Amino acid sequence: MGKVLAMNAARLRRFIADMTSLVGGAWQDKDEAAVIEVGRKLLGELVSHDDWLPESMARCPPHGYAQNLLWCDPFERFSMVSFVWAPSACTPVHDHRMWGLVGMLRGSEISQAFSRDAATGTLAAGEATTLMPGDVEALVPALGDIHRVTNALADCGSISIHLYGGNIGAVHRHIFDPETGEPRPFVSGYTNQVMPNLWVRSAEDRAGM
Ligand code: FE
Repeated sequence: MGKVLAMNAARLRRFIADMTSLVGGAWQDKDEAAVIEVGRKLLGELVSHDDWLPESMARCPPHGYAQNLLWCDPFERFSMVSFVWAPSACTPVHDHRMWGLVGMLRGSEISQAFSRDAATGTLAAGEATTLMPGDVEALVPALGDIHRVTNALADCGSISIHLYGGNIGAVHRHIFDPETGEPRPFVSGYTNQVMPNLWVRSAEDRAGM
């Protein structure tokens, strides 16, 4: 039998446990800034290692992007999604309506921010941020959370790990027409039907992890 390299599920479990503690404390106090500040450090630490993402969450789609739910807090205080981008794939212009943190794991992506004029509804392009492995970008609705994300690589896939302050796949939010700024209601859902089993420890026991 060939050697099987076990993914480091312990690292992912640790992260989920730390996030659960965080939302049970600071988030319970409605201290969004504290959740974002500490969550950003935790996610930055997680994506500075690339030994923990289950293979089923990392498969590159033939085109577009997959948004795979890795974990949702039972009280829907946060969710964790693996975004897998086909070469050059991009999202529509969209909002989130909750805090978000995007951590780059493999490859690179560009987040183009937009601001929306309250009176006319038209969009104006803001800053473009390029993320490299280990980088984390924060999205805060109070500061403007409208953007379009593109895989910066034309010849290979990219993967980013997203954290949100709720069950992002079930949230009623918006896609915007880039020309007119006209909003359209949108619920993203998730690509995967099955979540990875992070709780089987037998392979780790055998590997002495
Ligand atoms: Fe987004």
